[in-house]
Amino acid sequence: MSRNTTAQIDLAAIRHNLSVVKNLAGDSRIVCVVKADAYGHGLSRVCRALDDADVLAVATTGEGFSCREQGWAGRLLLLEGPSNAEEFDDAVTLGAEMVVHHESQLQLLAQRKISAPAALWLKIDSGMHRLGFPPERATEVFKQLQQHCNGRPLILMSHFACADDRNNPMTERQIRIFDASVASLSGEMSLANSAAILNFPQSHRDYVRPGIMLYGVSPCTDRSAADIGLQPAMNLGCDLIAINQVSEGESIGYGAGFICPHDMLVGVAAIGYGDGYPRHAENGTPVLVNGQRAALTGRVSMDMITIDLTHLENAQVGDRVTLWGAGLPVEEVAQWANAIPYELICGVTARVKAIMV
Ligand SMILES: *Cc1c(COP(=O)(O)O)cnc(C)c1O
Repeated sequence: MSRNTTAQIDLAAIRHNLSVVKNLAGDSRIVCVVKADAYGHGLSRVCRALDDADVLAVATTGEGFSCREQGWAGRLLLLEGPSNAEEFDDAVTLGAEMVVHHESQLQLLAQRKISAPAALWLKIDSGMHRLGFPPERATEVFKQLQQHCNGRPLILMSHFACADDRNNPMTERQIRIFDASVASLSGEMSLANSAAILNFPQSHRDYVRPGIMLYGVSPCTDRSAADIGLQPAMNLGCDLIAINQVSEGESIGYGAGFICPHDMLVGVAAIGYGDGYPRHAENGTPVLVNGQRAALTGRVSMDMITIDLTHLENAQVGDRVTLWGAGLPVEEVAQWANAIPYELICGVTARVKAIMV
């Protein structure tokens, strides 16, 4: 049998999480964000669990082709739009809707003789200062884009910088700036990512754009996934491959940085940063061994981690170790690793076997 390091992906949890989004979003349509291989969950399988989505959103045309290969015939949105002629042509082949956020894309549209195949999404920079036209250009760019739309919808959008913190005044300011910039334009609107779906109902508008929530991870600083009714969609697990006694005063692992304060029972689990487990996870990061909490001890290696089993009863070689998932939210692990949960789930590498349940 091969190394039993697995990411169990629960498609029923993803379907459930989509229904939670639907309940929160009322009449808004749902743009399910499946970029970055569906946040590390495997785009090809995940998009089959999202047949209730109104639109699937991807970052690259390659991801768009994956959705089509899996039989997604519905609306597809290219979140950053095309950045060159080849991408534009691929988007046309895909029948994808495109975000237009920059002057260079207006030129691209003007150069290609064909009009866009589907709706265009005009992105306004309401204050995040990453992508989007300045608010004062909204009307002028809207008029330019109408020439390329061929009667297809022109949707107005923006993106929030701080929606995960409900007390941050930035989000309401962004909403005001967006609304003022499009006041004289008529079109559907889209502003809300997962965090705004929860924290800023006034931003829901015509389309909400959930990503992280679909995978059962809380987008907010002050509410857990369980509080929101979300179910984690990824269970990252591996086997315990060794258990060793290490004496007081001896060190564990690379750098010999962890010195045993007493005689310890140390378990070795078959996962490391080569699998996407965060190398910067600190001593004390929780893991589950047979469902019981234990603590990471010593540095994370490429293929292995070491775990303090001293206080655990009956741990055996071959026991199952959970790194995150049911009973151990990835949000909690991220805090110990100076990371965000997005990074951890996206970072699981190809050698981890994905198992769909
Ligand atoms: C990634 C992305 C989202 C989804 O964000 P979450 O925080 O994962 O919900 C929404 N909109 C845009 C433009 C994005 O790039």
